[in-house]
Amino acid sequence: MTSWPSDKPSSLWMALSREKFEAPALRSETRADVVVIGGGISGLSTALELARRGKKVIVLEAVRIGYGASGRANGQVISALTRHGPDAIRKIWRGQKGERFIQLVKGAADQLYDLVERYEIDCDARRNGWLQPAHTPGRLKRVGGLAAQWAAAGAPTGVLSDEEMCARLGTDAYCGGWENRDGGHINPYAFTCGLARAAVSEGAVVYENSPAIRFVRDGVDWIVETPGGRVHAPKIVLATAAYSGDLWQELTRSVVPVTSYQAATDPLGALADEILPNDEAASDTRMDLRYFRKDREGRLVSGGALTIQTGAAKRLPAMVGKRLKGMFPSLPENPMTSFWDGRIAMTIDRLPRLHRRGDGIYAWIGCNGRGLALACAMGPVLADAVEGVPDEQLAVMPSMPPGVPFYPVVSRFARLILPWYRFKDSREI
Ligand SMILES: Cc1cc2nc3c(=O)[nH]c(=O)nc-3n(C[C@H](O)[C@H](O)[C@H](O)COP(=O)(O)OP(=O)(O)OC[C@H]3O[C@@H](n4cnc5c(N)ncnc54)[C@H](O)[C@@H]3O)c2cc1C
Repeated sequence: MTSWPSDKPSSLWMALSREKFEAPALRSETRADVVVIGGGISGLSTALELARRGKKVIVLEAVRIGYGASGRANGQVISALTRHGPDAIRKIWRGQKGERFIQLVKGAADQLYDLVERYEIDCDARRNGWLQPAHTPGRLKRVGGLAAQWAAAGAPTGVLSDEEMCARLGTDAYCGGWENRDGGHINPYAFTCGLARAAVSEGAVVYENSPAIRFVRDGVDWIVETPGGRVHAPKIVLATAAYSGDLWQELTRSVVPVTSYQAATDPLGALADEILPNDEAASDTRMDLRYFRKDREGRLVSGGALTIQTGAAKRLPAMVGKRLKGMFPSLPENPMTSFWDGRIAMTIDRLPRLHRRGDGIYAWIGCNGRGLALACAMGPVLADAVEGVPDEQLAVMPSMPPGVPFYPVVSRFARLILPWYRFKDSREI
């Protein structure tokens, strides 16, 4: 039985959003060319693209638009994979397959900011760059190689010295790093609502509070059932990410859902000018990642994960506040005043996947915490797949979901790996 995580506390992004979106629940029997299940950025960018191509699309969202990771993310727009640079991608997908995927990742931020512009999405979009500060000299060497590979693929990247990174972040806690000037940050909840508005403007129909409970075959069609209605369609796109329930068990079991927590300060006033003075977004090189960006009112928004989740609402803000204060001593004591959580879909090899069953069911999953821009880039790819574009022309090769080994144990206890990550981070040179 699917259970939805608590919707409380709601994210800061909802409170700040000027984009609002509301839709009724499905209360009838209807037809579509494609049913998209999941009202996050993946589902909505796919629905938008299919609607633009003249398809009748229905989006079913279990709770409300932006309820999942898309409305809860840190909001960093990242046009790169950092675990897999272009060289590693070319080893996994040889020839044109690899090149197409590299270009998809490289152009992902363009896709997101194009949507912002085309549909005038009011989501505090900033495009001042994305920084990856290195926490050790060894990491600096590695990310220097990564920056060079992405630059060779055409991305506007560069290596930053110790002094340059210090000036860009407002802290000397790092030893240099790299930047991708294509990146930036958004209010992810506002962006998701704007995307839903855009999809509707192109003809898609969106229903909220309409969880797909099951789908059953009916001749060449599928019937997707919700508590209040049914949709008949030959094609289904599952865009349920780490919130996937029992609809397609193999899909659910292909990712490890990891709870990630977010916390924000109050508006920092003049101090905000000293931290990230150029208003970039930053995520460092630790395995237990540290990342931060500012919102439009000068709050610092950061986050992290916990090994033990009991008391997270107190312990996580305290932990993140301490880390940030170590970097920015002028912050007040216990600076984090708001808190929320979300679920990230992690794959074992940290690569996202496009899945396809032979019977008209498609899915996109496993963005490993780097999915805001990628999900925008995947909309047209999923639309291509649904329309039957040959595999060799798709930017991502479709596959069947690979099961995570020992899924019941791994999915419950994945967070126990955090102390190991922290140990490794502290021992690196
Ligand atoms: C705390 C956090 C911080 C993050 N920070 C960043 C960041 O800074 N930058 C970045 O690029 N990425 C970040 N990510 C990752 C990014 O948010 C995700 O990769 C992306 O939002 C995934 O979008 P999605 O549409 O695939 O999934 P989601 O946004 O999770 O949407 C899935 C939707 O499916 C719905 N659903 C599930 N089952 C059903 C059903 N049966 N019927 C109907 N609807 C259903 C859910 O309610 C949900 O709304 C972060 C993620 C988290 C959790």
